[in-house]
Amino acid sequence: MKKILLKHAPMTQFSLNEDCLQIGGMSLSQLAQRVGATPFYAYDRQLITDRVALLRKYLPPEVQIRYSMKANPMPAVVQHLAAIVDGIDVASVGELRVALDTPILPGQISFAGPGKKDNELSCAIASGVTLNMESEQEMERIAILGQHLGICPKVAIRVNPNFELKSSGMKMSGGAKQFGVDAERVPSMLARMHGLKLNFEGFHIFCGSQNLNAAAIQEAQEKTIQLGLSLAKQASCPIRLLNIGGGFGIPYFPGDKELDLKSVCKNLHRLIDETKKHAPNTRIEIELGRYIVAESGIYVCRVLERKISRKRVFLITDGGLHHHLAASGNFGQVIRKNYPVVVGNKVVGHERESVTVVGPLCTPLDLLADEVEMAKADVGDLIVVFQSGAYGLTASPTRFLNHPEPVEVLV
Ligand SMILES: *Cc1c(COP(=O)(O)O)cnc(C)c1O
Repeated sequence: MKKILLKHAPMTQFSLNEDCLQIGGMSLSQLAQRVGATPFYAYDRQLITDRVALLRKYLPPEVQIRYSMKANPMPAVVQHLAAIVDGIDVASVGELRVALDTPILPGQISFAGPGKKDNELSCAIASGVTLNMESEQEMERIAILGQHLGICPKVAIRVNPNFELKSSGMKMSGGAKQFGVDAERVPSMLARMHGLKLNFEGFHIFCGSQNLNAAAIQEAQEKTIQLGLSLAKQASCPIRLLNIGGGFGIPYFPGDKELDLKSVCKNLHRLIDETKKHAPNTRIEIELGRYIVAESGIYVCRVLERKISRKRVFLITDGGLHHHLAASGNFGQVIRKNYPVVVGNKVVGHERESVTVVGPLCTPLDLLADEVEMAKADVGDLIVVFQSGAYGLTASPTRFLNHPEPVEVLV
C-alpha cells in the first residue's frame, strides 16, 4: 500500500521577494537586522486587520467580535485590535490592565476564568467590566465585594452546557468541567441572584477551541443558542447578552484544512434571524483568539550549527521550546506533529534536503521540526515557524535554562 503523504496547508499569507519572506512590507532579513537579535516573534499588523475584515464580511452584522486576549497579549497587538474588534475578553488582572490601557471602553471588556481572587474581582468590579461568573460561590463573593465597593457589579453566567464541541483540539464543555456552572444548576443560580445586588447581563457559553470542522461548529452554535434562549426564560428580565463562544481553528499540521468560514457564517445568519425573533434586544457575541492572530505571526530563529549525526542532518538553532512550546509539540499535543517551517531567507532555495530542526536546550523535547523537507540551510540562515501568532511566547516556559527572552515586534 502506498503511504499517503499529508501536506501542510499552503502558507500564502506572506509574499516572497527574491526567495525571502516579506513581513509587514519588509524583507525578513532586514527585519532581523532591525530587531538586532534572534530569536524573535513578528506579527504582521495588516494580516490581523485583514482577518477581522474577513470575519466582518461573512458574519451576520449583528454579531459582535470579542478578542480573547490570552491568545496573544502583546500590548501593541491588543492596542491594534482594540480599534477593530467590539470587545476584549481577559483572564487575569494582568490582561485586564493591558485591556484598560487601550481606548476600548470597560463596558466592552469581559473577565472569564475559574479561580478569580478577591483582589482580581474587586479590580474588575471597580473597572466596570463584565465578570463571567464561573460558579455560585464566585457570585456570592462578587456580591459582597460589590457592596464593600459601593458598586453594582456587571455579571454574566458562564454556562457549562450538557453537550460538547465535537472534534475540537481542546474541549471545554460537556460532562464534568472546572469551567462555568452546569446548565442544570443555572435556574437556581438565577433565583438566588434576585436577592443580590448584581447587574445581570446574560450568558457566556464557550464549548471548545481549535476546531476546523464547520459542521461541528454549526451544530454547537445551534445548541448553544437554544440553551441560551431556554435559560433566558428563567431570568427575571430579558437578557442583554448571549456570548456563543468561538473555537474557530487554523491549520497547523499536515493534513489540516482551513476552516470553511463561509459555511459557518451562512448557517449563523439563519440562527441569528431565528434568535432575533425570540430575543430582539440581546447582543450576540462570538469570542475568538487564535483565529484572529495566529496566522499573522512567525517565530524566527537562527541556525547556529549544521550537525550530521549518522547521516541525519540536524540544524541547531538559537530558538526552541523555551520560546515556542506549542511548536515543539509539548503544549497539549498527544502525537507530536510539525508546524509548518521554512528557511525564511531562502524559502524555495537551490537545493532541498530533509532535516531536523532543534534548539539549544539539553533535552530531546527541544525539537522545532522533525524530518522536514526544506531549502538547504547554512549557519546564519533564518528558520521561520509559521502559525505562531497565538499561544507562542506567553504559553512557553521562558525561564527554562535561562536563555534571554525573545523580542516581539508588530510590523
Ligand atoms: C482560550 C479561550 C478562548 C480563545 O480560544 P481560541 O482557540 O484562541 O480562539 C476564548 N474563550 C475562552 C473562555 C477561552 O478560555
